[in-house]
Amino acid sequence: MTITFDNITMEEAVGTAMGHIAARSRCRVVTPNAEFALEAKKNPRFLNILNTSQLVLADGISVVLASKIIGDRMVGRVTGVGFAQALAAAMAQEGKSLFLLGAKPGVAEKAAQKLQETYPGLKIAGTHDGYFKEEGPVVEAINAAHPDALLVCLGAPKQEYFMETHDAELEVPVMAGLGGSMDVLAGNVQRAPEFFQKYGLEWLYRLVKEPQRWRRMIKLPLYLLDAVAWRIRGGK
Ligand code: UDP
Repeated sequence: MTITFDNITMEEAVGTAMGHIAARSRCRVVTPNAEFALEAKKNPRFLNILNTSQLVLADGISVVLASKIIGDRMVGRVTGVGFAQALAAAMAQEGKSLFLLGAKPGVAEKAAQKLQETYPGLKIAGTHDGYFKEEGPVVEAINAAHPDALLVCLGAPKQEYFMETHDAELEVPVMAGLGGSMDVLAGNVQRAPEFFQKYGLEWLYRLVKEPQRWRRMIKLPLYLLDAVAWRIRGGK
């Protein structure tokens, strides 16, 4: 069993999400990377959440590279941060509202402020940090704010579990699990310079900035190796 990605562009992904907002139908968005793939291999619940999501975006160069090895080329990457920004821009044009959930106290508020400055017309329905003990009151707060879309930035697989567990209760058309994106949207964590982004070397930039991440990053080539093995086995 493997993760099945949507082979779509950023514009198509945002178009799909906006369509769900208009129709008031559920659109769960996930952004699996190499670490997700390794977790999904040993965690059937997690894999099932990913594969039953309406949008499965290829965040991370490892997914694109793996797809090339398999011979099944992806159209391109749709990063979580990029998706959040493009969605905010489209929502701003239609005066839609966004709820920001996750990261340390104060970060979601800062991200909200930055998004509103960048995309005038965007409504912020509410914010909540990602360090809560009980989920019930958080779900209630989200529903009381009536957002059109919800960003869930709790890290994986916590954010995917949150979205699945409260799927029926949450009255929000679009919900997207976006990991560390809130810190980037708030300006607390810088994205790699354009050069690194263009050549798919964000992992290298991040490794230089945060050398302690090597343990997590070692999983990147492991994911690629797994994709090769998958092709040799003839699976698709
Ligand atoms: N986080 C959170 N609640 C938690 C654990 C993590 O809100 O209980 C936040 C954390 O502050 C960070 C994000 O979730 O903003 C996860 O970041 P990480 O870099 O681990 O995720 P990635 O993007 O690598 O999946």
